[in-house]
Amino acid sequence: MSIFDLDIIKSELEGKENAKKLLLKSEEKKIINLNIWVDNKTLVVADAFVVYHNTARGPAKGGIRIDKNVTLEETTDLAERMTLKTALTGIPFGGGKTGICLDSVKLDSYMKKEIMKELVHIIRGDLTAGYYIPAPDMGTGPREMASIYGELHISECVTGKPIGIGGLPGRKEATGRGVAFSTAYATKKLLKTDVKGLKVAIQGFGNVGSWAAYFLHEMGAKIVAVSDVNGGLYNAGGLDVKKLMEHVEKNKTLKGFGGDAITNEELLGVDAEILVPAACENVLTNKTAQKVKAKLVVEGANGPTTKEGDEVLNNKGIEVIPDFLANSGGVIASYIEWKSAKSGSLTSAQEVFEFIDSTIEKSFEKLLTLAKARDLTNKEAGLVLAVQEVIHAMENRGWI
Ligand code: NAD
Repeated sequence: MSIFDLDIIKSELEGKENAKKLLLKSEEKKIINLNIWVDNKTLVVADAFVVYHNTARGPAKGGIRIDKNVTLEETTDLAERMTLKTALTGIPFGGGKTGICLDSVKLDSYMKKEIMKELVHIIRGDLTAGYYIPAPDMGTGPREMASIYGELHISECVTGKPIGIGGLPGRKEATGRGVAFSTAYATKKLLKTDVKGLKVAIQGFGNVGSWAAYFLHEMGAKIVAVSDVNGGLYNAGGLDVKKLMEHVEKNKTLKGFGGDAITNEELLGVDAEILVPAACENVLTNKTAQKVKAKLVVEGANGPTTKEGDEVLNNKGIEVIPDFLANSGGVIASYIEWKSAKSGSLTSAQEVFEFIDSTIEKSFEKLLTLAKARDLTNKEAGLVLAVQEVIHAMENRGWI
């Protein structure tokens, strides 16, 4: 199901039948067999999907996900979210995504390198033309982006590269930084209080969840619960985030750190003012959303709340900050990396964080103003603003 909810964007589409056609359909969906020779006897053939949803505002931007549950539908949904994210934050990119259907836990770095090489082999034309600019997502990281760079030797063709190979200081922290800034800003504007001293539960302690925890902890919030795919930890007094990050870096799991064991479902309902789902999609459903005690939900992951989950949260008066604003820090930093690759300029992590904060703040202000003026939820207001931008670009390009 498309995330372009026609009831919400009805007035934007009034008399614009062609805009509706283009928004509801992705520009291009590639279904690929990735053939990877593991050794000279073993061939692995993986399903892969590359989707360009809309490039009216600029090149398709979106990460490469390696996960055993990847589907064409999921990849399309994620590409649509990238269109919204770039449009809402005013970053001159469009929306794209790549999904590779393999169990990333079972892949070593050699295999991932072979996969990246094969992917480049197939979409080389799009990459070198600057039509699609990939980045990391679940199951990929800076090393895989370095492999893509190694095949092309064009720095601006890929973002999320390691520092020293055209990578940007602050990129690894960028999405979590944006999630933490969005949380603090929403706390101030919507809960009318300071994030300092508030209790926060975070689902997922990977790139996004751990850095969101780090920055929120620095702001004085108390991180009372975190989880990974195997389950979570709870400590009413607050977890030591820096030590926890070191533990996960060393052991690749939260297990063994201490604190009370909780399940991922229990984490969603713990006693905390703020809940940050930062793991995967569809975790806040009609059923699980009923258990949420938090006053504010900040979507760190892409699509963590289903449509029914949104209705439940809304009826309970819980504020939800949509993924396409809250986790936009990554693409905002990617834009700086892409720009630096073109100009040769260098940027510090502090400058990156300041640009993320100020870009999110501007978009957040517009969103809150529209939500108030049209009595919309935050997610609905964000959708309307993003769609207005994309329609405007399509008009300017003579597409509609
Ligand atoms: P990651 O692979 O680094 O971490 C994912 C974390 O979630 C891990 O702790 C993992 O154990 C946990 N997890 C996985 N499946 C789970 C499940 N079913 N239940 C509970 N926990 C589970 O991934 P990431 O880069 O942190 O991405 C997390 C989410 O944020 C994804 O939805 C991704 O699309 C989105 N996102 C990431 C970025 C980025 O820059 N990394 C940017 C924007 C959005």
